Amino acid sequence: MYDIVIKDSWVVDGTGTPRFKADVGIGGERIVKIGGIPISKGDIVIDAKELVVCPGFIDIHSHSDLSILVNPKAESKIMQGITTEVIGNCGFSPAPVREPAEKELKRELEKYGLNLTWRTMKEYLKRIEENGTSVNVVPLVGFGTIRACVMDYENRRPTKDELDEMKVLTEQAMSDGAFGLSTGLIYVPGCYADTDEIVEVCKVVSQCGGIYASHIRGEGRTLIEAVREAIEIGKRASISVEISHHKAAGVVNWGKVRETIKMIEEARKNGLNVNFDVYPYTASHTSLEALLPPWVLEGGRERLEERLQNHDIRERIRYELENSINIVDNCITDSGWDRIVPVYLDSDKELEGKSLEEIAKSMGKDPYDVFFELILRNKNAQVIIHEMSEEDVITVMKHPLSMICTDSEVLSLSDISRIGLTHPRGFGAFPRVLGVYVREKGVLALEEAIKKMTSMAAKKLGIPGRGVIKEGAYADIVIFDPQRIRDTATFENPYSYPVGIEYVIVNGKITVEKGKHKGTLNGKVLRKITQ
Ligand SMILES: [Zn+2]
Repeated sequence: MYDIVIKDSWVVDGTGTPRFKADVGIGGERIVKIGGIPISKGDIVIDAKELVVCPGFIDIHSHSDLSILVNPKAESKIMQGITTEVIGNCGFSPAPVREPAEKELKRELEKYGLNLTWRTMKEYLKRIEENGTSVNVVPLVGFGTIRACVMDYENRRPTKDELDEMKVLTEQAMSDGAFGLSTGLIYVPGCYADTDEIVEVCKVVSQCGGIYASHIRGEGRTLIEAVREAIEIGKRASISVEISHHKAAGVVNWGKVRETIKMIEEARKNGLNVNFDVYPYTASHTSLEALLPPWVLEGGRERLEERLQNHDIRERIRYELENSINIVDNCITDSGWDRIVPVYLDSDKELEGKSLEEIAKSMGKDPYDVFFELILRNKNAQVIIHEMSEEDVITVMKHPLSMICTDSEVLSLSDISRIGLTHPRGFGAFPRVLGVYVREKGVLALEEAIKKMTSMAAKKLGIPGRGVIKEGAYADIVIFDPQRIRDTATFENPYSYPVGIEYVIVNGKITVEKGKHKGTLNGKVLRKITQ
């Protein structure tokens, strides 16, 4: 007998090989049989005629570090078919915690109404476990977090002792179960670190068998140099590299991904294990203050506010932005105020969804002044920037080295009242690839797209027994209608579930049934077994 029998399905096994007709039998948390299984052998039988059965999707770049604690059901992700979330990206992880960094972390926690009950990666992961989760969780440790623990938000090189301390903290997080280290080199404090410093820390990660995932030092005018640096770090530290949400940001930079991909192919030929990921949209999503030159953020929020209240400093920032001095990704000059749209504002709710150009015009003010004032009045301001080209998105997505990600945290439908508008990728990224780029545009074959969502990520991270449909593998499974699957989330209405996903199974338990979340919390926190 099997706990679940999936009958008459098209199996797309995640490896990229062509689909085949089979029944799939699940016992406990594993797939135990693929082949012909009589209906009478299943406690639960799912009729999957005309449906595709594939491995649960692995979101290689997510930001659910804190939201998974307030939303363990992970609705926005599980409803897309995502069964595993990779957290700790862009240099930020909620652990380890040390005195200097604690203040900024608490500011983050406040947004979610969470208390700080952990210090180490081990304790943080335990908290997720105790809280329960519908999806599996794969942690990375953030380099920015490590650096802030040792050096606060200071813009200088570490002393030898500080660097040693960073290495010790990194090694500890790796032995607590992290699968690698992430950097966010446009964000503070990661942007204050030079290549040598990152190489030194990556050597420790490499010895523990982890990967290096990077939001690189620039995705616009310095994109080429930034990719070169990521490759250099990979070579010097002998570490597997994942370039996060690869793109060419800024209208004036469109097309540069063709060049970066050539560089990546070349590095690959020379023996470096390097990949990249992408979300299927032409807009990015970040904090409003990330648009400032990084020195303005030195020392934390209070210092930032002091600076923005000072007229002379404002003039200096304006001059630097207009002339792209001290800043790498300058979406103000490279894309324009009309492409920058605040979507979350703490206190200026009525301005959400309007571009900075529109806002400035309606107020009869200079856009720079509006920009500074919005940062001052809104501690957690978020923006969507329409700064990529469709052609580039397709170039990156089509490439055999790329994987699919959301770059989003887990959300629920009710989060609209807490955080307002957001990027539609949170609810739609994976089904959008299958509906728009596989079925409508024919950019990818279905098998290829599924591979980018499953086995490639499992292999990259070294997650055993997941990302494939085969006997003995964990039963993380998505069952969907290839004719119907599609995202419905838009920039105007981002809180909207996709259609066409019938079932999602996590570790052998049905979590989504006929398109509805059952409330099942059968996800696991996965820990890297260090070598
Ligand atoms: Zn990022």
